[in-house]
Amino acid sequence: MDQYLVFGNPIKQSRSPIIHQLFANQTQQQLNYQSKYVELNEFSATIARCIKTGVKGANVTVPFKEEAMALCNQLTERAQLAGAVNTLSFVNGEIWGDNTDGQGLVQDLLNNNVELKNSRILLLGAGGAAKGVILPLLAQLPAAIVIANRTIAKAESLITKFNNEKLSSCGFTDLNDEKFDLIINATSASLSGNIPPISNELVANTLCYDMVYGKELTPFLKWAKEHGAIKVIDGLGMLVGQAAESFRVWRNVLPEITPVLNILRKEG
Ligand code: NDP
Repeated sequence: MDQYLVFGNPIKQSRSPIIHQLFANQTQQQLNYQSKYVELNEFSATIARCIKTGVKGANVTVPFKEEAMALCNQLTERAQLAGAVNTLSFVNGEIWGDNTDGQGLVQDLLNNNVELKNSRILLLGAGGAAKGVILPLLAQLPAAIVIANRTIAKAESLITKFNNEKLSSCGFTDLNDEKFDLIINATSASLSGNIPPISNELVANTLCYDMVYGKELTPFLKWAKEHGAIKVIDGLGMLVGQAAESFRVWRNVLPEITPVLNILRKEG
């Protein structure tokens, strides 16, 4: 049976094995998918073993996404621009790398009937996750994407890298009273119970998305709701969406996201 893995450190929390098992059942594909903890200095040796033992593909999560990219013989454009890889395919002894995070986000926004064309988007954060979503968001033809980050230099370097007239950058406190249709929190602030310091007015009557997810509303979404956000969405749909796109890359069949998302939401 074809073997797939997800590598991370930590990895216990990963919901990828259950998601891929549900996709396999849904599409009647025969495959086995497991999570594996990898020591920080063991990543490249682990990948070499995968190739030797005939593993077909792997997902990569924190903190190995950049290291995975460096090992690849071939990269998709979206992986190159993201500067990180979350999906590896082992083909004839070679490593092919892709990044499906951005597609996962865009698909989840579309599934939630979010209008992206001509919209004004505020992207909070300039780390790996933010980088990965810029190209797929631009492909939806928004009017503008403003990237705001705690370390402004990082947001500025993204603007230089992508070189697209729709992109601009700033710090959180430069945002004044601009109006946005959609605010995407791509910072990891929610993980430590924090909220990017943007004004209450920015979230009023605006759709707010947090890439982080959990049993409860994330701190950012809770705050946005309290200050009049039209709708709040967490990142669980993005997680299932990026997994679906990885599954498509490996198996050439795109599974349905909604039934799997419904099961995960029920499980809590
Ligand atoms: P990185 O470590 O690469 O980047 C972290 C970002 O968060 C940086 O922009 C950093 O700013 C900012 N940040 C961290 N703490 C704070 C804070 N207290 N206040 C304001 N800004 C802060 O992480 P990733 O980009 O890889 O991931 C970001 C988040 O997205 C994570 O929480 C991750 O779990 C989530 N994610 C979810 C996915 C999904 O499928 N739902 C997929 C991928 C990621 P600075 O540059 O100044 O340090």
